[in-house]
Amino acid sequence: MKIELLNLKRQYETLGTQIEERIAEILRSGSYINGPYVKKFEERVAQYVDAKHAIGVANGTDALVIALRALGVGQGDEVITTAFTFYATAEAICAVGATPIFIDVKRSDFNIDPEQIEAHISEKTKAIMPVHIFGSTADMETICTIAKKHNLFVIEDSAQAIGSTYRSTPVGSLADVSTFSFFPTKNLGTYGDGGMITTNNDQIATICRALKSHGSGVYGEQAYELLEQGKVQEVKDTHVEQTVYDQKKYYNYLVGYNSRLDELHAGILDIKLDYLETWNAKRRERAAKYDAAFAETQFTTMELDEANINTYHMYILQSEKRAEVLAFLKEKGISTAIYYPVPMHLQKVFRSYGYEQGSIPVAEYLSNRTFAIPIDPELTDEEVEYIISAVREADQLHM
Ligand SMILES: *Cc1c(COP(=O)(O)O)cnc(C)c1O
Repeated sequence: MKIELLNLKRQYETLGTQIEERIAEILRSGSYINGPYVKKFEERVAQYVDAKHAIGVANGTDALVIALRALGVGQGDEVITTAFTFYATAEAICAVGATPIFIDVKRSDFNIDPEQIEAHISEKTKAIMPVHIFGSTADMETICTIAKKHNLFVIEDSAQAIGSTYRSTPVGSLADVSTFSFFPTKNLGTYGDGGMITTNNDQIATICRALKSHGSGVYGEQAYELLEQGKVQEVKDTHVEQTVYDQKKYYNYLVGYNSRLDELHAGILDIKLDYLETWNAKRRERAAKYDAAFAETQFTTMELDEANINTYHMYILQSEKRAEVLAFLKEKGISTAIYYPVPMHLQKVFRSYGYEQGSIPVAEYLSNRTFAIPIDPELTDEEVEYIISAVREADQLHM
C-alpha cells in the first residue's frame, strides 16, 4: 500500500466540479481583485473565529508581517516567540526590523512554555507571538496575563490551527491580532497561497487594510491619521472625483505592501470552509485512534490539553530510533515528515544571535525525535489500520 502524508488530489476529486464552476464564474465576472468573494469569505472567517474583523492577505507570512507593522513593531524592538515552529514565524519578526527572542517549549504539546517568558522580557520587548503548533492551542490565558502585566501585545500565529479553540474561545480571537495561512497543506488550504488577519480592534484592522494595499486609499488615509494621532488634514482634491475606484487610490500614506487575497482563492476557500468542521472532526477521530493504538508502544504520543479543541494539523510521534523507524515506514509505503528538524535558534540564519547548542533543550530534544504520520481526513479506514499496524511493527526497532 502507498500512503501519502497528505493527498490533495483525493480531496479535489470530491470538490472538483463545484470548484471548477466557481472558478469559471469568477473568470467570467471580470472581478479579480477585492471582489464579492473576498468580502464574503472575510465575513465568514470573522464569524467563524468570532472576531470583529477579518482581512484577507496574500499568504500567512505576509499576515504576520502586516500584523506586526500594525502594532507598531519595528527596528530595535524584540518579539518573544517559540523556538519550535515553522521559520516564517521568526522571519516575519525580522522582516519588520525587530529581533525574535526564542523561548523553549513544553514537551507535552510542543507549545511555548509560558513559565519561561517573563525571564526574557526586556525594555525592548514589544510583543509575544505564540504559535498554535500542529493545531494544538498555546496556553493563551497565561500568555495574555503576562502580556497585560508588562504592557505587551499578543499576536497568535494560527497558521496551523483554524478551527481550534482555547477553552471555548476560537483561535483567531484570543489575542490583539491573529494570523492564518491558506497554503495548500493547511487544514483549510487553497490551490496556491492565501492568508488572513483577524482582530477585534478597529484601529489594527484599519492599519492592516491600509498596509496590504500600498498604504493608499481611504484606509491608507485613516491609518495615517491613526499612526500620526490625528495630525493630518482631510485630503481634498477635486481632480480625483472621476476615478472609478477608490478616489484616494493614488494617494499614498504609508509604505505598505501589495498583499491581497485573490478573488479566485477567496472563491475556492468559500467552498472549502463548508467542509472544515467535518475535516477537523475526522482528524480528531483519527488522532484518538492513534493515541489508543500507540499507548502501549515505546513511541511518545501527543499529550494535548483536553479542555481545548485541537485540530491535529499534524499527528506527531516521537522515537529514539527515528531514522530507523522512518526507513521502515518508507519501506511499507507510508510517507512521513519531520517537523521540525532544526529549531529556530540553531538555524544558520540566526547564528549572529549567538544561541548555543543546548541553550533551548526541549526544542532541541524534540527536533531529534519528532515525526509526522499521515492524518489526512481523506484517508480510508483501511489505510488508517494499515498505518497503525506498520507503526506497531516499527515499535520492534525500539527493542
Ligand atoms: C504555514 C505557516 C506560516 C506561513 O504561512 P504561508 O501562507 O506559507 O506564508 C506561518 N507560520 C506557521 C506556524 C506556519 O505553519
